Amino acid sequence: MTPVTSTVAVCPTPGLDASIFADLVLAGGMTHTLVIFASGTTTGSGQVVRTVPHTAGGPLVVVDSTPFHPADHTWPDQPGDTGWMGDQAVINTVMAACAPGGDLLVAADIPVKRDEPGWTWQVAHLLASDAELPEVGTKVDLAVDAERRRLLSSAHTACHLAALSLNRATGLLWRKEVRLDSLGSPDLDQLAMEFSVMDEEGSTDIYRFGKSLRKRGFDSAGFAGQLEQVVAGVHAQLETWIASGAAVVVADGGDQRVTAPRRWTCALPEGMAEIPCGGTHVATLGAFSAVQVAYELAPDGTGLTVRTTPTLAA
Ligand SMILES: [Zn+2]
Repeated sequence: MTPVTSTVAVCPTPGLDASIFADLVLAGGMTHTLVIFASGTTTGSGQVVRTVPHTAGGPLVVVDSTPFHPADHTWPDQPGDTGWMGDQAVINTVMAACAPGGDLLVAADIPVKRDEPGWTWQVAHLLASDAELPEVGTKVDLAVDAERRRLLSSAHTACHLAALSLNRATGLLWRKEVRLDSLGSPDLDQLAMEFSVMDEEGSTDIYRFGKSLRKRGFDSAGFAGQLEQVVAGVHAQLETWIASGAAVVVADGGDQRVTAPRRWTCALPEGMAEIPCGGTHVATLGAFSAVQVAYELAPDGTGLTVRTTPTLAA
């Protein structure tokens, strides 16, 4: 996959019929890209609103609506989708932001937060370097690589289940009150999470058990001493949850703008689990036959690497 490093280009006038998305079209004709990945959709079509022939990541195409999931620019845990735009291969998908002055910035180069006034948020589809770019204003068929999406969705759902299981298995290791997760356990995942990335086989999450976490009341020495019991507890919990076949829904509140806040929800036997999340997910825990975790604690006890590996049901 080609990494996206730096892109600055001028946003051309998209030439869209503004009445279609009247409330989404901002001054200057810049349009927020609508995304439909929350429903699990992998196919669709979109009208080309701009193209940029040369960027560090390859030629770039923005459409008004897309099933492609872009890698987030601030927390890029789930890689961008790949697939096809017509008969051209899409080799990566990333967030793009159009500045009020017209510059288009991509991925890690985006210098502002999502709520920055005047900026337009879009999905950039990156094509192969020798690709033929579609004309602005034309409609293109879009098809995500559904098998790769299924694997990334599985890894992402498994990652959330593993996080909630870790929270429950470490609930008694806190000496002070801290924020709780949606199931009522101290939210070690959110309080200690340093890094998270999904691939087609699973997810890798790195937690930091430093001085500040100990100050908040976490017994990291106790965690090290009970590591085996914690892992056994996590696996038992994951088994129960998978057996429940609980439904998973990514709730977007009807807002399909790419920057809209989305929540992962899962109707577990203990209650409705919720985690803010911009990724894609399986529709039910029945998709899994197992989810395994492997914990690697740093020798000095200050860091934990969790590798979560789902096994898909036949
Ligand atoms: Zn997530």
